[in-house]
Amino acid sequence: MRTTRVLAALLLAALAAAGCGKEGSPPTKGPKPEDLPKYQVATDFQLPDSGTWNKAKRRGRLVVGAKEDQPYLGEKDPASGVYSGFDIEIAKMIGASLGFDPNKIEFRTIASANRETALQNGQIDYYVGTYTINDNRKKLVGFGGPYYMAGQGLLVRKDEEDISGPQDLDGKKVCSAAGSTPYQRIQADYPKAVLVAYDTYSICVDNLLTYQVDAVTTDDAILQGYAAKLPEEMKLVGKPFSEEPYGIGVPRGDNALRFAIDDALAAREKDGTWKKAYDATLGLSGVPAPTPPPIDRYPAS
Ligand code: GLU
Repeated sequence: MRTTRVLAALLLAALAAAGCGKEGSPPTKGPKPEDLPKYQVATDFQLPDSGTWNKAKRRGRLVVGAKEDQPYLGEKDPASGVYSGFDIEIAKMIGASLGFDPNKIEFRTIASANRETALQNGQIDYYVGTYTINDNRKKLVGFGGPYYMAGQGLLVRKDEEDISGPQDLDGKKVCSAAGSTPYQRIQADYPKAVLVAYDTYSICVDNLLTYQVDAVTTDDAILQGYAAKLPEEMKLVGKPFSEEPYGIGVPRGDNALRFAIDDALAAREKDGTWKKAYDATLGLSGVPAPTPPPIDRYPAS
C-alpha cells in the first residue's frame, strides 16, 4: 500500500513536470491556448497617480507575483517556464487594461508567507495567487477585487474514512502553507489538530500521498485541482468552512492602481472575458463558472 502511495507521489511530481495525464485516467487537462481569451491592450492608458504603474512603464514591463504549483490556478511549466491558470489570466487581463501586453508581464513565484513583504519591498507590482482579502492583511497591502470566492476545504486520501470535516481533525496531522488563512483557522478553531506547515501546498500533497500527514487544508479551489490530477488517490471531504475572497494584492497606499484594477476587473466581468478565462482554466477542475463576487472598492487608504 505504501509503495503505491510513494509511486503516486512520484507520479504527481512527474505529472507536474510533464503537464500531462496518466494513461487510463481522465487526461490532465491544461488550459488550451485556443480557448483562452485574447486581451485587448489599452493603447492610450495613463495612470500618473500610481507610483507602481509609473515604475512599470519606465521598466517597460510588469512584474507580477503568482503561485507556480496550484493546478488550474497558477502553474509554471518547468520546461518552458510559462505560467498558466485562472490567476494568471486575471493578471493578464488586468495588465492589458493597464496598457501592458501579456508578453510584457514577468511572473515571479512568491509563497503565501512572503506576499506582503514582496509588495512592501516593491519586488512585484501586483500579486494574483489565491490571495484572501482580510482586514489584517489590509493593514499591510491593498486589494483590488475580489475576483473569485473560495472556501476552506479538506483533502484526504481516497480510502480515508475517519475524516469527513474539520470536526474530525483532533489528533490528526493536518498540513497547510505557512502564513495562509487556512493554517491560521485550524490553529485558532481546531487546536487539537496537529498542524504541519510548509511553504507550498504541493509539498503537503506529497506528504499526504506518502502517509506523512492525514489531511491537507486550504481553499477548495486549490484542493479540487490536486484531486482532479489524481482522482484515484485523493478526495475532498465536507463542506467549505470559511469564505476566502480572492483579491489582487497591490502596494498599500497605491489607491490609483487599486481603483484602476477594480475598473478593469468590472469591465472584464461584464464583457464575458472573466467567464471565458474561468471556463478555460479553473473550470477544468469540474466546477462550473460561478457569478463573480461583488467588487469591494473600499475607500482610499
Ligand atoms: N486563500 C488563502 C490565503 O490567502 C489560502 C491560499 C494561499 O495560501 O494562497 O491564505
